[in-house]
Amino acid sequence: MSLEIIPLVLGPVGTNAYLVGDQQTKSAAVIDPAWDGELILQEANRRGWVIQQIWLTHAHFDHIGGIAGLLKGMSVQPEIALHPADFPLYKAQGGAALFGMHIPPSPEPSISLKHGQLLPLGTQTFEVRHCPGHTPGHVVFYCSAEKVMFCGDVIFWGGIGRTDLPGGDYATLIRSIRTHILSLPNHTRLLSGHGGETTVGVERSDNPFL
Ligand SMILES: [Zn+2]
Ligand SMILES: [Zn+2]
Repeated sequence: MSLEIIPLVLGPVGTNAYLVGDQQTKSAAVIDPAWDGELILQEANRRGWVIQQIWLTHAHFDHIGGIAGLLKGMSVQPEIALHPADFPLYKAQGGAALFGMHIPPSPEPSISLKHGQLLPLGTQTFEVRHCPGHTPGHVVFYCSAEKVMFCGDVIFWGGIGRTDLPGGDYATLIRSIRTHILSLPNHTRLLSGHGGETTVGVERSDNPFL
């Protein structure tokens, strides 16, 4: 395993942020810098990793709230990658006001993610899959070599993402899960935006929503 994955549970609703580093090249990406960006940076620095990319599964405030704090401590700014269908949500601070919350503003995304796009990280490559339903621009990041998918708020251990928030749609979410997640091998690890780790096989057989 050449990728190391550091999960961090951060913020007011316990969101999983993932710091992913390539042992060989020391390059790293942060998937969903949820909150407390300073803390994420500390974890990277401690390992001698350089954060080159910020990959966002979607733009809800509890997944982007740590971006400003993370960038503040960095001299070379990493790229920020988001699907354009979530740009409006990103510009609206991820809907924080809806929950009586406030997050500091962060710079506009520099990478417009597309379905099927390949994102290199060190010696590995992740595939972007557009999985709308929780939000219109939700994507997941899949690395077949490492047998792992970062799936944000699309699917959880025994659950699925909310579809009652603006831009959500139940039928669309179920279709996304069936097409882009359940089509993967059973042993694929699913690292979600909230809660513990699961696998495609476990959710295929046990998830009450599927
Ligand atoms: Zn969300
Ligand atoms: Zn969330």
